[in-house]
Amino acid sequence: MVLTAPGRPLKLQDRPHPEPGPEQVLIRVRACAVCRTDLHVVDGDLPDVPIPIIPGHEIVGEVIAAGAAAGVEPGQRVGVPWLGHTCGDCRYCRDNHENLCDSARFTGYQIDGGFAEMTVADHRYCFDIDPSYDDMEAAPLLCAGLIGYRSLVMAGDARRLGIYGFGAAAHIIAQLACWQGRQVYAFTRQGDERAQDFARELGAVWAGASEQPPPELLDAAIIFAPVGSLVPAALRAVRKGGVVVCGGIHMTDIPAFPYSILWGERVVRSVANLSRRDAEEFLAIAPQVPIRTRTAPYRLEQANEALEDLRQGRLSGAAVLIMD
Ligand SMILES: [Zn+2]
Ligand SMILES: [Zn+2]
Repeated sequence: MVLTAPGRPLKLQDRPHPEPGPEQVLIRVRACAVCRTDLHVVDGDLPDVPIPIIPGHEIVGEVIAAGAAAGVEPGQRVGVPWLGHTCGDCRYCRDNHENLCDSARFTGYQIDGGFAEMTVADHRYCFDIDPSYDDMEAAPLLCAGLIGYRSLVMAGDARRLGIYGFGAAAHIIAQLACWQGRQVYAFTRQGDERAQDFARELGAVWAGASEQPPPELLDAAIIFAPVGSLVPAALRAVRKGGVVVCGGIHMTDIPAFPYSILWGERVVRSVANLSRRDAEEFLAIAPQVPIRTRTAPYRLEQANEALEDLRQGRLSGAAVLIMD
């Protein structure tokens, strides 16, 4: 399913199988989850989307062929995340911040992704998936889980944790946060009873509308919804010294707000991408919790429907494309 012009529906195309380069593996895709970032790619919210491109960066598949240098075996099941390539040489790569690499390339954005039956990926960005997960259940771990995990780490040791936007990332990270003994406060669109019930079901101690103040001040808040006005809302909900983590790759403009809500050493920060260490850590923790993902299956050719359902907020959990 190919993006041929920003803002246009994806097109079903027949293509020859991609050829893996020396550092790449050829993967038969079994499942690929649909992420909000795919919407930002499709809508042209991200800069310089190369056309044509196959979206999809939460890939679970089987290695069919490995290039000469690859450390991954044919037959192995792997997960492929958003970060698809780094240079290994810039100041960020050398400094253990490969998520900020100056020359990073991203799956389903600059590298053809998983809305396809076959794809190629750099073997250094292929990860083992615990056998306790089936393909569909594992797929959302690869971005919603990984970016969620990095966001949670950035929230520090916050005991009272707010989560704004209760979609795919939130439903995964809420389970981990509860398991770690934190109290989760879930914020959703006003009147979204379904998402609020879902949050409580997963262990949230409180669920309410984003505009609503929580019953207690929070130690930290993570914003997954791409809505800039949530930044001042979250700042008002955190205590002195609290941190507001923006977990999305794209956000509408943040409205002006009084300095007094930032005062008191409150921090606003973003989280960009993921590192391989995040992937290794999170994919090891997930089966211990164990994190269970809620998924809605779609066929590959239904990718546009899946994107639209995500856009309209009709999903609880994650949409996953299943290849036959
Ligand atoms: Zn680099
Ligand atoms: Zn994503």
